[in-house]
Amino acid sequence: MGLTIFLDGEFVDKEHAKVSVFDHGLLYGDGIFEGIRAYGRKVFRLDAHLDRLYAGLKKIRLSPPMAKEDLKKKILETLKRNDLDDAYIRVVVTRGVGDLGLDPRKCGKPTVFIIADKIALYPREFYTKGLPIVIAKTRRNHPSSMPPEVKSLNYLNSIFGKMDAIDAGTDEAIMLTTDGYVAECTGDNIFIARNGKLSTPPYEIGSLDGITQNVVIQLAGEAGIKIKRDMLTPDDLYAADECFLTGTAAEVIPVISVNGTLIAGGIPGKITIAMMNAFSELTGIEGVKY
Ligand code: PMP
Repeated sequence: MGLTIFLDGEFVDKEHAKVSVFDHGLLYGDGIFEGIRAYGRKVFRLDAHLDRLYAGLKKIRLSPPMAKEDLKKKILETLKRNDLDDAYIRVVVTRGVGDLGLDPRKCGKPTVFIIADKIALYPREFYTKGLPIVIAKTRRNHPSSMPPEVKSLNYLNSIFGKMDAIDAGTDEAIMLTTDGYVAECTGDNIFIARNGKLSTPPYEIGSLDGITQNVVIQLAGEAGIKIKRDMLTPDDLYAADECFLTGTAAEVIPVISVNGTLIAGGIPGKITIAMMNAFSELTGIEGVKY
């Protein structure tokens, strides 16, 4: 049996899960999305993802088409109907169908869909050997142009960054702010370790307020590792003892080089490994059951 998708109040087969070409999510990227993970029939940090989604909707002045608790129930039901133990969940709310103009007031009703599918994991060797990354040529959107806390459907800025990574023969790239500070990667947040302490950039400068990033901040605190929100430059990366990335899809992944310069001698560092282990332990025990 194929996938069952939740679309605008109904559960439909993947083949019938279609949206209009007049949907402003498609025409203009006008909408919000979330990527969520389930581990062993438990959804990890579901409330945090829903809170970020609803904060994004508020920011783009889109009245939520359903209450948070109802959307939560539909996410859990989508997982159950697809009988998935481990899953990647995509929740999307668009401005809905309108005309060919930008005016969001012309869109009558938001489109909502939930896809729950198997997860395509990064190759295991990235986690043991670490990931080489580069600094993207493309700069991160300026926060005054695109509020960084909004996980909008318009991801072209990240896609340009991803193409910079691909051009350099790597899988991920660091995106700097317009004034040259480290913001984040195209789809992950970034941490460095120096002298036994962790640093990660403040989201206000232009990165997503990452849920995995916040989990790592919590785990570091519990492990007694000092952690600070810091303005970081490319030189701070090159001089770091360790570097790793965090994201719902990537989890915690070691970085072993930036633009060809080896970090930590090219092997995943101690704090990185401790955070990877603590994260994996937490996802095994915490979550909303379905
Ligand atoms: N930054 C960007 C640009 C992202 O798209 C994501 C999510 N893929 C992240 C960071 C990581 O955020 P989270 O841990 O909430 O998935």
